[in-house]
Amino acid sequence: MDHMTHIFHRNPRQSLPVAVGGEGIELIDQSGKRYIDACGGAAVSCLGHGHPRVVNAIKAQVDTLAYAHTSFFTTAAAEELASMLAASAPGSLNHVYFVSGGSEAVEAGLKLARQYYVEIGQAQRRFFIARRQSYHGNTLAALSIGGNAWRREAFLPLLIPAHHVAPCYAYRDQLAGESDAQYVQRLADELEQKILEIGSDKVATFVAETVVGATAGAVPPLADYFRKIRAVCDKYGVLLMLDEVMSGMGRTGYLFACEEDRVEPDIVIIAKGLGAGYQPIGAMICSDKIFNAVVEGSGFFQHGHTYIGHATACAAALAVQTVIQEENLLANVRQRGEQLQQRLREVFAEHPHVGDIRGRGLFVGVELVADRASKQPLAPAQRTHAKVKAEAMARGLLVYPMGGTIDGRQGDHVLLAPPFICNAIDID
Ligand code: PLP
Repeated sequence: MDHMTHIFHRNPRQSLPVAVGGEGIELIDQSGKRYIDACGGAAVSCLGHGHPRVVNAIKAQVDTLAYAHTSFFTTAAAEELASMLAASAPGSLNHVYFVSGGSEAVEAGLKLARQYYVEIGQAQRRFFIARRQSYHGNTLAALSIGGNAWRREAFLPLLIPAHHVAPCYAYRDQLAGESDAQYVQRLADELEQKILEIGSDKVATFVAETVVGATAGAVPPLADYFRKIRAVCDKYGVLLMLDEVMSGMGRTGYLFACEEDRVEPDIVIIAKGLGAGYQPIGAMICSDKIFNAVVEGSGFFQHGHTYIGHATACAAALAVQTVIQEENLLANVRQRGEQLQQRLREVFAEHPHVGDIRGRGLFVGVELVADRASKQPLAPAQRTHAKVKAEAMARGLLVYPMGGTIDGRQGDHVLLAPPFICNAIDID
């Protein structure tokens, strides 16, 4: 397999073990070695591996009808899944557009936001504001709004106009003596300033991950942060789009992470946990206001991909979401998540290189630092996060690491996102 040169891996210099099986919380490679999947890839495999109900639902759908193009037909699987999501999503988020993954869903959201303003006669609104600590995908528009400068660098001339403001990152950015309320207000003021700087009638949408995932390691917002942000958006007629590709679909213990923040976005983006890795699927869900503007305007969302609403992907996601509901797994996510954070705090209480442990539900980040007291990040050249990943993997544990990226101020971190089916012994 070392000579498997025909597949272009993420890192073409790396040779990887071959995954040959998966059972529950474990993955198995060609040598028979088992790995506890404590990150679900990148927070994807929320039901673990080989879940019989999901596997059977996929088989049944393929036996009946694998795929039908959505310009000719809809399918029961897609309709049922959309109804289920619309019924659970906050407020008037009632219209679901299925795509094949997170980046595609973000692109669809950005384009729909833009089209919304064209429909309502505000075509001058074309600027997006996002946060420096963010990842929204690798396609060009999603990359444009993302916060990792190093991911964007080679593609800068190809990107769409986007502006960035500070994230809600209390561990490093909350000032000494500043209350939570003051810090949150400062961030909302910064967004307001940015809107005014660009031109209050030129901004289309503010985009944020409800809980920051890959770039920072499960950084939750402080209470009231998103309510303040929503108020600023409303003041200037700017749409709020929340990216819950990682944090949504139960990962935080709520089906939509923003439920905990008591905020209703205009657009919410989901993927990963939606199909739990059994099939590639993501979705963009928009409000009645946006949907009606399109229906009553041009009547057509000027977008589309070959695999939107793919029947087999929708059947898989429907089975995943049904299992989560029927087995009351969100309660387990909340309980096991508390246990996970508590155990990490016990184990790493004195560790000189563990700066912060944070998260929500089974979405937990451990930030690694050179020095705990000063919060000094580790030297990037040491690639500590990569060493942690390799060492964990050698010992049969999968964790998702990332190097410090935001303005050179943020530490390396390790993301933990175990499956919702895990029990107390698995967490220990
Ligand atoms: N948005 C967020 C918050 C993500 O974490 C990711 C992927 O990690 C994406 C978007 C892009 O999703 P995908 O890799 O499925 O295109």
